[in-house]
Amino acid sequence: MTDTSGTEFDLIVVGGGPAGSTLATFVAMRDHKVLLLERDRFPRHQIGESLLPSTIHTICPLLGISEEIENANFVRKHGGIFRWGKNAEPWYFQFKDANSLWGPWGYAYQVRRAEFDDILLRNAAKKGVDVRQGHTVTGVIEEDGRVVGVRFTDEQGREHAARARFVADSSGNTTRISEKVGKREYSKLFRNVALYTYFKGAKRSPAPHAGSIVCEAFDEGWFWFIPISDELTSVGAVVFREHIDKIKQEPHAAMTRFIGKTRFVKDLLADAKPETEGIYGEYRVRRDWSYCNTRFTAPGVVLVGDAACFVDPVFSTGVHLATYSALLAARSINTCLDTDIPEERCFNEFEMRYRREFGNVYQFLIAFYNQHLNSRDYFEHAHGVLSADMQEEAANQAFVRLVSGVSTTGEPFHSDFQGMAKAKADAYSASKEYLTAVKIATLRGGHALTDADKVAATLDDTLGRSVRDRIASVGDFVPDDVLQLAKTVAIHAETGRPTSRQLFVDGLVPGEGELHWQEA
Ligand code: FAD
Repeated sequence: MTDTSGTEFDLIVVGGGPAGSTLATFVAMRDHKVLLLERDRFPRHQIGESLLPSTIHTICPLLGISEEIENANFVRKHGGIFRWGKNAEPWYFQFKDANSLWGPWGYAYQVRRAEFDDILLRNAAKKGVDVRQGHTVTGVIEEDGRVVGVRFTDEQGREHAARARFVADSSGNTTRISEKVGKREYSKLFRNVALYTYFKGAKRSPAPHAGSIVCEAFDEGWFWFIPISDELTSVGAVVFREHIDKIKQEPHAAMTRFIGKTRFVKDLLADAKPETEGIYGEYRVRRDWSYCNTRFTAPGVVLVGDAACFVDPVFSTGVHLATYSALLAARSINTCLDTDIPEERCFNEFEMRYRREFGNVYQFLIAFYNQHLNSRDYFEHAHGVLSADMQEEAANQAFVRLVSGVSTTGEPFHSDFQGMAKAKADAYSASKEYLTAVKIATLRGGHALTDADKVAATLDDTLGRSVRDRIASVGDFVPDDVLQLAKTVAIHAETGRPTSRQLFVDGLVPGEGELHWQEA
């Protein structure tokens, strides 16, 4: 679209949290003209620090920020520890237990959101998005039943308007635009309130769980305990809504009382003190009611991230849903801008896939909030929720997959689960001959496994570095994960890329490069 006035865009994005910056970047990466309006000045505080592997190992590489994330000194999260349900003692999971899906990438990060969100927003600007901080959207412009732009104010309070082919609302849970698209429906089940702050000097769980999230249920709700640096831990009590007045009046007293009712969180915090300075030096209260809009799209406008829906934070799915929905919306917008596939079909694909991912988490949470079950029951429920996709998967693997953010199959980067599972089984019974076979397969695909740089060049940066590091460390003994890596490389080399799956009748599939839809 040619624009000489500076007020016409292909896409206007409202809000620069993870959903908005991810969406804006993915559309700008296809050479479209994108304006992003963010009310605050970054870095700013935000809750939602515990991330999932799906965000770190699929979205971040696509955004091209893996290296920056790796160098940001965030805490590695290998899984979670739960004191939950009928089990008197804590039980845990590790992401790597999802069979070989994550392989050597079986981790995510606990992030300081002020820094994480800032990395994403700066990246959007680097990729060509016109990012304007301190700009607040005050309403949308509608013509003939279609949203065609927004009105906004700058930091001096001056009023502006801009027009675009599409407007995306990623302004989070306080959105006012979502009511133009549909009605927000609140869950009758998940209506809690969260009181949280940050502690200095808390203990860490023993390896490999030092960076894992700890969730402990107690008689008035549950706690999260999230290490966000060597020094600082994010601690939150999610309790029934009748506590809200007391919490607001005396947050410190309420927090002390709640901690006193736990066993494990109390022990981890025995020598810790609440942080009193800077952005981490206060108590905050958030209603965390779960909700979902009746529609995610209307002509000219799309809702992504918390603006569309939110589900209870116990599985830390917020940023995953925000960034994954952003990818889905970006595909739809790019496809509308670049092809003649009808708009309705493109946005239908976005909405169906997003609802499916949200629905899987929501459905599983219903069972998870039943404290009369034990860990095995929860695993079985996860299996039930996902069984339509994966009949032969072990129950605990289904659980880990669900809480890793990959319950939706059909994604090229999530979909080759069966192949990966087989690779792991093969790797266990592997011998040097097997490695030789893999080398031959890899060579046949045009890559010499021993030539680490050549292999790495064909892969994304994180994967490439892992390959280089691991191959460099291979001696006579070949560890399982190297074999698995070798097999993965071989699969990539032979097939080009894992296959995409159509999820719905007449549905579209992700195209090469992941940023648009195409016919199946
Ligand atoms: P946001 O992060 O809310 O970003 C929206 C942006 O829009 C903001 O920067 C805001 O300034 C801007 N904005 C708002 N209005 C306007 C306007 N009118 N004009 C311009 N800009 C505007 N998620 C996890 O992944 N892990 C967790 O551990 C986790 N814990 C949580 C705990 C609690 C108690 C709660 C309530 C949530 C938790 N979440 C967690 C969820 C997570 O916080 C959100 O899902 C995530 O931040 C959503 O990202 P978003 O980009 O959609 O919205």
